[in-house]
Amino acid sequence: LTHRHVVIVGGGSAGISVAARLRRAGVTGIALIEPSDTHWYQPLWTLVGGGQAPLRATRRPEASVIPDGVHWIRQAARAVDPGLRAITLGDGRRLAYDHLVMAPGLQLDWNGVPGLAEAIGHDRVTSNYAPEYAPRTWDLIRGMRSGTAVFTHPATPLKCGGAPQKIAYLAADHWRKQKVLDRIRIILVIPDPALFKVPAWSEVLQKVASRYGIEVRLRSEMTAVDGDARELTVTDHTTGTKETLAYDLLHAVPPQSAPDWVKTGPLADPASPQGFIAADKHTLQHPRHSEVFALGDVANLPTSKTGAAVRKQAPAVAANLLAVMKGAEPTRRYDGYTSCPLVTARDKMLLAEFDYDLRPTPSFPLIDTFKERRGMWLFKRYGLPPLYWHGMLTGRI
Ligand code: FAD
Repeated sequence: LTHRHVVIVGGGSAGISVAARLRRAGVTGIALIEPSDTHWYQPLWTLVGGGQAPLRATRRPEASVIPDGVHWIRQAARAVDPGLRAITLGDGRRLAYDHLVMAPGLQLDWNGVPGLAEAIGHDRVTSNYAPEYAPRTWDLIRGMRSGTAVFTHPATPLKCGGAPQKIAYLAADHWRKQKVLDRIRIILVIPDPALFKVPAWSEVLQKVASRYGIEVRLRSEMTAVDGDARELTVTDHTTGTKETLAYDLLHAVPPQSAPDWVKTGPLADPASPQGFIAADKHTLQHPRHSEVFALGDVANLPTSKTGAAVRKQAPAVAANLLAVMKGAEPTRRYDGYTSCPLVTARDKMLLAEFDYDLRPTPSFPLIDTFKERRGMWLFKRYGLPPLYWHGMLTGRI
């Protein structure tokens, strides 16, 4: 049984940001468990699917983002025993810890909709949610001149709640420019009662959808897909009716949950149907195990799961972990900040930023963030990626 002072599970946005901050604070004896040799900047996948960024711009070797002095264990974690303070690795080895940071992200449940696992990647079914399919989204959009395009949103919590509709707007704007928009029926299937949680942005998005002639099906969900027949079933949760729709392009976002081993493990929040990890919503400390913290997509926090949220969670976890190491109480509070860059056209964006109370929390207070802006689109495409690679992942911002 090897022993490490701090073990971080997951070398994605959250795990690397916390590792960098702990190293900056002089913490030693950190091990990072991460099976993948690639680190992905997922927010750009929307633009990959929209034909506005190459996939290669979204990946870097994992080794290049791991801070100096952090020991990389290239394995998947398979189980955690918080009583013994030990992690079991994929190869069966066990690793003991004094402090644990859980950041393995979430799992895409392609099997959660009958027929989806078989159809994805074939039969004109695509998804920006996985790097192997995002470039295919653009091929399908580019190749379409008429027919029906359907964009779906799952009924579970998901990462970047805006991403299922952003790609619909990028596609519609492309078809508008190609002068084929009037020949394409676009259907957006959303399980919620509105296009967005915060009413003020929802109203703006409603206008965006109408501008493109998009049929919005609210309180509705894709409940089956038949790739061979190119049909999907949409269930309307208000009336309980099921409708079969033929499609020529289907952008599907799968149901999402905590990874299976987390869901069935001892750190999962019993109140979370998807098995996300329990964490105090302000300190991010586990309620039963004070030496365990969780952040990022895997944490059961009542806010939207985004990289922008991780940017504000990581400093809280690092500061609170340092306090706990010194025997003090965690006092740094995360306020639920999250942000969703809502791309509404090929050169326009709305930046929705808010906290646990759904109160707007703008980073640029002088700008009217309820207006679509070209400057914001440029910021997403060209400003945010370098800030991510050089600022967030190095613990500087
Ligand atoms: P990830 O970054 O997903 O990292 C999880 C890591 O854990 C991975 O490296 C994985 O390999 C590793 N892992 C998995 N299982 C194990 C295991 N068993 N043991 C050890 N390691 C494991 N956010 C925004 O802020 N703005 C956006 O515009 C935006 N757009 C998005 C668009 C799309 C299409 C998608 C898919 C996401 C988008 N996001 C956006 C969300 C953002 O990417 C995530 O919220 C963010 O990456 C969460 O960070 P994380 O570290 O929790 O998870």
